[in-house]
Amino acid sequence: MTSLRSASASDVGMVRTNNQDVAFVGDVLWAVADGMGGHAGGEVASRTAIDALVKVFSLDQSLQGLEEAVREANQAVWDRGSSDPELRGMGTTVTAAALVRRDGRESLALVNVGDSRAYLFQDGRLSQLTEDHSLVQEMVRSGELSPEEATIHPRRHILTRVLGMDPEVDVDTVVVSPTVGDRLVLCSDGLVNEVGDPEIADTMSLLTEPGEAAGRLVQLARDHGGNDNITVVVIDVVDDDAASSAVPLSTDMEISAGALPLGGSPDSAPDLASGTMGTPAAATIVAPEPRERTLGAAPPPRTGPAKPRTRRVTLRVVAFLLLLLVVLAGVVTAVGWFATRSYYVGIDGNQLAIYQGRPGGFLWFQPHVSVFTGVTTSEVLPSRLDDLRNGMEEPSVAAAHQYISNLQQEARSLQAGSGATASSPATSSPTTSPPPSNAP
Ligand code: MG
Repeated sequence: MTSLRSASASDVGMVRTNNQDVAFVGDVLWAVADGMGGHAGGEVASRTAIDALVKVFSLDQSLQGLEEAVREANQAVWDRGSSDPELRGMGTTVTAAALVRRDGRESLALVNVGDSRAYLFQDGRLSQLTEDHSLVQEMVRSGELSPEEATIHPRRHILTRVLGMDPEVDVDTVVVSPTVGDRLVLCSDGLVNEVGDPEIADTMSLLTEPGEAAGRLVQLARDHGGNDNITVVVIDVVDDDAASSAVPLSTDMEISAGALPLGGSPDSAPDLASGTMGTPAAATIVAPEPRERTLGAAPPPRTGPAKPRTRRVTLRVVAFLLLLLVVLAGVVTAVGWFATRSYYVGIDGNQLAIYQGRPGGFLWFQPHVSVFTGVTTSEVLPSRLDDLRNGMEEPSVAAAHQYISNLQQEARSLQAGSGATASSPATSSPTTSPPPSNAP
C-alpha cells in the first residue's frame, strides 16, 4: 500500500534570537509559515495562521476547503494585527500541502502565499512547484534580473504578498498526483537563501528518511551562515512494503513526524477533524525528542542559540527607504540653493567680474563668472585688490554692480582730492566718498 510519510525540522538559525517560523506536520495537512513584524509579531502571525489553517481545513478537506482555510488564516492574522497596536503590521507567509480527493482520486494540493516554497523531488530532479511572491521574482519575470542575480539581490527579502497585510488575499494553488518515490519539500526562505537547489537535490538523493533529510537541510543552512530561521518539511510518497529504518538526528532541531496510508477507502482515511490517524503503515521517524503533532495543537516552542537578531524586510521598510530618499533629495536641493544663491565680486584676469556662488566653492558646487564688468583692476585702489582676490560677497548682481561703482568712485575721489600718485597707495577708504557697501 502507498503511504505518505513526513517529518519536519526547524531551527532559529545562527543570527536571530527567536524562531518566527512554524512547521506543521499532520496526517493530511502539512505547512510552513514564516512570520514577520517585530519581535513578537512574527511569531504571533505564523502561529495564528497555522492554527486557523488547520482548524478551517478540518471542516472541509477539499481543494476548495484548503484555499478557504488560507483565506481564513489571512483574515485571522489581519484581525489580530488590526486589534492589537503592538502587533500592527505583522504578517506571515504560508505554504501548505494537503491530501485531497479530486475526481475520485487522492491528490496533493499545494497552496502558497509569500516566499516559502514547495519543491517536488522526482526521478532525481528537483523542481520548484510554487512561485515566490517577492519583488525580485517579479523582476525576474519582467527580465530585469536573472534567477541567479535574484538569489543574491539585496532586496530579495521584500515580499509582494503575505497573509495579514490586507483583509483579502489571492492564493496560488498547484495540484500534483503523488506517485511512489516522489518527495515534497516545504521550506522557509531561510533554507533557500543559504542552500542552492543542487545541494537540496543531492541531500534528497542521499538521505531517504524524511526526518534525516529535513534535519540535514536545516544543518546545511546553519553551516552556510544561518542568517534566518530555517524550517523544512519533507513528505515522502512511499510503498509500505519497502523497509524503513529509524534514523536518529544529532542536532538540537525540533523534529516532528507522521505517517499516513494513502489511497485507502474513505472509511479508513484519517480523521483530521478529530485529530486521529488511520493505521500508520510506515515507520515513524525517530528523533532525539520525537514530537507527534496532533491536528489543531499549538506549534511547539522554538529554541536556539541567542545571537544578534536581524529583521525581515517588508514593504514598510521600502516605504521608509523611499521617505529617506525624499529627505536626502531635499537636503541636496537645499545645499544647492545655498551654494548658488549668492554672488561675489572677484578678479578675472585684469578685470573685475561678478561670480555666482560662494568664494572658493561649497561642497561640489563651484562658482562661475556671471558678469564680466569691463572694469579693470587699475580703476580701483590697490588696497582693495586683496579683498577682491578673496571675493567680496554681495546678495545680488545689482548689489555687486553698486559695490564696483563705489570702488571706482572711491579711487576717483582720492585721485581728485589729493593728486595721489601710485607711490602713495591708499590704505583706507576716503572720507570724501561713501565706502564700498554691501547694500544693493
Ligand atoms: Mg524567513
